[in-house]
Amino acid sequence: MNSAFDLAGRVAVVTGGNGGIGLGMALGLARAGASVMIAARNVIKTEAALSELKSTGAPHGAVAVDVLDKASIERMLVLTAERFGRVDILITNAGTNIRKAPEAYSLEEWTEVLDVNLRGTFACAQAVYPYLCRAGGGKIITIGSMTSIFGASFAAPYSASKGGTVQLSKALASAWAKDNIQVNAVLPGWIDTELTRRARLEVAGLEERVRARTPQGRWGTPEDLAGIAVFLASPASDFITGTAIAVDGGYSAQA
Ligand code: NDP
Repeated sequence: MNSAFDLAGRVAVVTGGNGGIGLGMALGLARAGASVMIAARNVIKTEAALSELKSTGAPHGAVAVDVLDKASIERMLVLTAERFGRVDILITNAGTNIRKAPEAYSLEEWTEVLDVNLRGTFACAQAVYPYLCRAGGGKIITIGSMTSIFGASFAAPYSASKGGTVQLSKALASAWAKDNIQVNAVLPGWIDTELTRRARLEVAGLEERVRARTPQGRWGTPEDLAGIAVFLASPASDFITGTAIAVDGGYSAQA
């Protein structure tokens, strides 16, 4: 492997890494040589994800986290550093959505989506900051969405949280460049995961609409996100910070 993309000796934490996009990214990092800690809530999904990670041969582990809970985020990082000695890379992938018309949301539902997606991203980034400083720098990869660019009529709080995630990433990138920390957002297009399987049941015609609008003519898979994770986690991207990169089969390129 080209040394610019080599992650041997690097330690990564992936929130929501027990399935979907998070696992796709975690597998990419592991195949590039990183030690990977996946962090999520569902124990059954975590067990299955661990057996997939095992096949990479890279050091790996799992820790329970609820990104709504500061103490649990701190514990996630303490246990990762105890296990692997350091933390170099954080992917703030944990996310959720509640789909309905804007007028139908309760404020509690608004808060739930904003708290997991946006406050959770900030809380994890803030908590990892001293670890990255101790490592001499590092990489934070946040997860936006096509709704960071476009509005979705059926996902107002989600769109707000994912737009906010991009702006938050720019602010962190600006603040922490002095510490040799690069912060970038990935904007996945429509990817086939548990989250979007629910969306396809709840939003009529979504499956076909996405395929028709995507120049590459298909939904993405979690594996499609592995390459961008390796790139943004590796020295290959050392002069890239504060950007938002779409991985969407061309969805956002076409009017
Ligand atoms: P999944 O539902 O498969 O993954 C979501 C992950 O987030 C799960 O692993 C879940 O873990 C974790 N999670 C949710 N809430 C919490 C919490 N409070 N604390 C810790 N972990 C939590 O969906 P995706 O893989 O599709 O989504 C991953 C990310 O990608 C999300 O941020 C999503 O918004 C984003 N995204 C997805 C797109 C898609 O098309 N699929 C498109 C654009 C963005 P557990 O089950 O253990 O709770």
